[in-house]
Amino acid sequence: MAVKSRNIVQSQRKTDKWKHTFAYFWYDEPHIFEWGQSDFDRAMKKYSDTGINHIIGFSITHFRWSFYPWWDIINRTIGKIVLACHKNNIFYTEHHSASLHFCLDTPERLAFAEKRVFGKRKGSYHNWPDFQEKCLGNIIIDGKNLKDMFQIDIASRKPHYIDEWGANILCPNNPDFIHVYLKYLESLYKLGIDGIMTDDILFYGSSSDEIRLCSCCYCQEKYKRLTGYQLPSSDAEFEEFQKRTNLLAYIAIIRFREESVRGFHVKVKEHYESLGLNPFRPNYSATEIYWSNPWQYCFDRLPALDWVMIENTYEHIIRYSWPEWLLEHNHRFALARYRRIPAAAMFYPHAKDQVEFCWALAMTSGIQYLGTANCKPLDLNPWEKPLRKFEQEHQASMQHADKLARVAFYFSRSTRDLYSEYEGRTRENITSWMFACELGNVPYDLILPEELGELSRFNIIILNEAFVMSDAELDKIKRFVESGGKIIWAGENAAKDENFQITRTFFDIWGFERPSSWNSYGKGQIYAINLEDWTGPLRRRVLGPLHMIKDDEPNYDYKSPGAVELALYRKISGFISDALTEADMTLQNAPDGLLCHLFAAEKRDHLVFHVLNAAGTLDKPEIGYVMHRDPLPFPMLGETMTVKIRKPDGMRFDSDCEARLFVPTEPDRKLELSDSGKHLQFELPLKFIRFYGLVTIGEILN
Ligand SMILES: [Zn+2]
Repeated sequence: MAVKSRNIVQSQRKTDKWKHTFAYFWYDEPHIFEWGQSDFDRAMKKYSDTGINHIIGFSITHFRWSFYPWWDIINRTIGKIVLACHKNNIFYTEHHSASLHFCLDTPERLAFAEKRVFGKRKGSYHNWPDFQEKCLGNIIIDGKNLKDMFQIDIASRKPHYIDEWGANILCPNNPDFIHVYLKYLESLYKLGIDGIMTDDILFYGSSSDEIRLCSCCYCQEKYKRLTGYQLPSSDAEFEEFQKRTNLLAYIAIIRFREESVRGFHVKVKEHYESLGLNPFRPNYSATEIYWSNPWQYCFDRLPALDWVMIENTYEHIIRYSWPEWLLEHNHRFALARYRRIPAAAMFYPHAKDQVEFCWALAMTSGIQYLGTANCKPLDLNPWEKPLRKFEQEHQASMQHADKLARVAFYFSRSTRDLYSEYEGRTRENITSWMFACELGNVPYDLILPEELGELSRFNIIILNEAFVMSDAELDKIKRFVESGGKIIWAGENAAKDENFQITRTFFDIWGFERPSSWNSYGKGQIYAINLEDWTGPLRRRVLGPLHMIKDDEPNYDYKSPGAVELALYRKISGFISDALTEADMTLQNAPDGLLCHLFAAEKRDHLVFHVLNAAGTLDKPEIGYVMHRDPLPFPMLGETMTVKIRKPDGMRFDSDCEARLFVPTEPDRKLELSDSGKHLQFELPLKFIRFYGLVTIGEILN
């Protein structure tokens, strides 16, 4: 059956995904109950004037199942948004939680929902007649009770209640849930939406020590069919499972969860394809490196992805949280590269300097920007407009750019998912090494397991306790060294295969004991180091006042990087630079906190050098606490910095080529450039860079 709609996807499907500029549009109570078509038309015109051409919906009705009695009026609202978007040549992607449902069975839980969701969006459950009764009562859809579709917590054998969201969650293996959800999606497709983002299809757990399972009859049956094992059925069995007493059963459960989540997304894809549709599929994950995967999201193996995004979440203070986000951006960039799509970062800024900093953080990462104020009714358009204009003017430099680095960290997904020490040691190590590269301005990359066959562009691969590796992964690493590459071997790598059936020592793998200096192997070299001497504290996102309802509540716990931590970063970045026989990029008179990232433009006609002024951002204010509204410092950076760049292999530069500095809303400037044959060198006048600068070197072919 084909869905008749005003769908504009089919004709424009081939538009370059880099040409999409995103914004969120919140539809809340006034939009649903009061707004007419002309109000939406005016709102979308404003986005269009800013340069936005792809809106993603966000709503007070995000937990869509809890608003089942109001689906008609919500769909009418979405229909108006779609129409307004299309009038302004904007794509619309509908976004909601596909699986969370408020649990309101106590006054405390009702109060939590009122504050957590309604209050945050200036609404109230009182505006939805009989909300609590309707949510708690039996929601019958197609003769099926929604309650019978909840995930059953294996420990309590009751519907799984998730504190963080105050909600129950539906089971991706429940055929009734899949049926009614696909029917709901069909009603949205009929409205002419161009894309669909189906949030929260996952199992839940708060850390690798707390893997939760659904023990509904469908999960039990599917697990047995797929693995031959039985799900734990008593407290004692569940405890044994959490202790990983039977590792094979543990691994089987991890894979079963992943297969269940992925399987749901496959069904969504098959369903719209059966309707002759091919909607855009942006999707996001908040964390891939910084956390093990207790919710089994399997983000990087989703069957359909048009953009891979990171959500840099709103309860975290932008000024102090960016190190985690910047490092995570490497993962999204790599995944986007592998899938040949763009990556993007979602931020929740609520001041002009925050918009500027977040935008620059995305640009310097080679990914797209998406911002929304979330908890405040703020119009970001005026602040975004000059930045979007800048992006538009520099498409040739910003879009499809290649990261230039000869050093790469290996992201071992199996280690993250299966190794019990990942949280607590491994991630601390890999993130302190990457952060050291950031502060030391050593160009680096992150590579995924799927990219291990293409290592020839790198000189050095750094293995930070990639504890779990298949034989195939290890073979590719060995081939890299045999053919001349260098490996920095931090901690224990490849100690177990992906089924934990093979145990390997360093000697088993290489045929000699761990070397504490460079040791030859084939045409390459290996250097082994102990994690203890090389791991800094986990520098991660910093929690602000919860849910940003008040922005003047202090956080006293934040710690700035101290002298010891900074010395460690210098030791790490120095060690990596020394291991490269020749640095890719050398900076003289570089101020602390100035971060520089190097790319090649898509046509490889010019170099793209991004500069971000993060100086002073991680300093704790003298007042002794940090808050959402702490300003980004953007201090003056001094006079001039000399930048020397090793010419990348395969790129040619004419003798009369130019270096130019571009800064948003400022005139561009020609820089003094010299070419010594192997290197290009230019002088960067720092006084013109307030928060961000772009330097292009070479002739830009349009
Ligand atoms: Zn289940």
